Amino acid sequence: MTLRTDYCGSLRASDVGRTVTVCGWVDTRRVHSEHLAFIDLRDHTGIIQCVVDEKLDLRSEYVAAITGVVRARLDGANNDKLDTGEIEIGEATVEVLNVAEPPPFPMHERTDVDENIRLRHRYVDLRKPRMQRNLRTRAKVNSAVRGAMERQGFLEVETPMLIASTPEGARDFVVPSRLHPGDFYALPQSPQLFKQLCMVGGIDRYYQIARCLRDEDLRADRQFEFMQLDMEASFVGQDDILAFVSEAIADAAEAITGTRPGAIPTMTWHEAQERFGSDKPDVRFGMELTEMSDIFEGTEANVFKVPCVKGILYEGGATTLGRNAIDALTDKCKRWGAKGLAWFRVGEGGVLEGALTKFMSEAELAAVPERLGASAGDMVMIIAAERRVVNHVLGLLRLELGRPPVNEGGLQFLWVTEFPLFEAISDSGSPIPAHHPFTMPHPDDVDKLMVAEGEEFLEIRSQAYDLVLNGWELGSGSVRIHQGDVQAKIFELLGISDEEARQKFGFLLDAFKYGAPPHAGFAFGIDRIAALLAGEENIREIIAFPKTQSGGDPLTNAPTPIDPAHLEELGLRLLPPST
Ligand code: ASP
Repeated sequence: MTLRTDYCGSLRASDVGRTVTVCGWVDTRRVHSEHLAFIDLRDHTGIIQCVVDEKLDLRSEYVAAITGVVRARLDGANNDKLDTGEIEIGEATVEVLNVAEPPPFPMHERTDVDENIRLRHRYVDLRKPRMQRNLRTRAKVNSAVRGAMERQGFLEVETPMLIASTPEGARDFVVPSRLHPGDFYALPQSPQLFKQLCMVGGIDRYYQIARCLRDEDLRADRQFEFMQLDMEASFVGQDDILAFVSEAIADAAEAITGTRPGAIPTMTWHEAQERFGSDKPDVRFGMELTEMSDIFEGTEANVFKVPCVKGILYEGGATTLGRNAIDALTDKCKRWGAKGLAWFRVGEGGVLEGALTKFMSEAELAAVPERLGASAGDMVMIIAAERRVVNHVLGLLRLELGRPPVNEGGLQFLWVTEFPLFEAISDSGSPIPAHHPFTMPHPDDVDKLMVAEGEEFLEIRSQAYDLVLNGWELGSGSVRIHQGDVQAKIFELLGISDEEARQKFGFLLDAFKYGAPPHAGFAFGIDRIAALLAGEENIREIIAFPKTQSGGDPLTNAPTPIDPAHLEELGLRLLPPST
């Protein structure tokens, strides 16, 4: 039995004359006379106005079924803001299906509500059009991505949640074992090792919309648990993976926006650093980092006697940035690692003005604005330091000054390839992997890998790649090592002993002895892409039941203590809280 004939938001002028029943929540009600009342009834499709000619005790968020005849609204009473704004349900009778307490916060989007209160009553919050739209966007993304993967011959395989650790570099969530007191399962940071085992197992093309868990500090774009489109394929290389994923992304974007994005451009990590000072460049705007080291090669100015000098042009900045704003930017640059910020206003005829000009030669003063294409009213900002510091600081400064809001500038996808194999050198002198330890080195850098020492490791490229959208990292992947000897060499370099490698990944190394095909893969975050496609800056807006920034769930109160008897059964005893 269904209670309704139609959804609230689906009725149109073409339904005039029909007797209908709609069900939902009372959005608003306006009483006109003792009997006559206007009720706006809401369901997930929208709102319909109903005119009732009876005395009713009906409050906001009561659950009701309303039956009546669809009719055109009186002249001048149309509401352009509603899809159903030309019509109403007249001669309506109301059946109250359930009463409701007054909602814990105003239901109208115009009001900002404290997030804790929204999350504590998420079931009410979910009724709002914004959350309805966001969850439907997310479901469409999932469905589009599934369709694209299946069409490309990928098989959905589910991998376990209770596992031994995965090496994604974050902290594991762990689950104590009752049957093996003192032992713990880890929750998967990703299905990485299992998907590689699937390749050894001849699955050929695997995918899964996988739940991943990482015990890291939460941010606007990060939750403890998140969903990834995780995939892996055999007998393919980087280009094939980029093509498979691009197809899924294009389908998802098209499903939401109605427009299929064009081919996704590719940029090497090195180029991204040099031009944008970032491994996830937001290419919706220019303000590229411009090389000036050559201009200052023989400089007399002490600030510029450094290995690298680069600058950015802030158009119109000479008039829009006051002294306080510049001081605040300088402080930021110092916090980001620079000694200071060299800034110049550009005056008439492209002449640089600023405290540092007196230390600069005529040639330097002429070359800087010329290189940047600066004209009167602009601001030139220069950072001078080690190359890594210059790129990092200018990259952040560029975002600070030029980054458009989340829903402006369209969807600018970008593949960033040839990531370094290692991201840093640990205190013990071993390089730290930038992706995970199964990433294949770049073929041209394998020889270097065998002889590198110290900082030289940081120059070695890998076959790892990221997908970036509007400056957000959507996901990462790599061509994997499938030869035991190369893997052993990487473990040795990472300072992982044979014993440790056996203990942690012995099962994978064993599997590789039984015929591992060349393989490569990728994973991208569903929450992030769905958020960006929905125009949301915070992924919590695209998750039905998220945790707050401090990792709690105001709805269920998780995490909560457990019963002492349960602890006992698990063989656990709690330490007193540290003070
Ligand atoms: N497992 C990786 C991650 O979650 C993705 C991949 O390498 O396929 O970042």
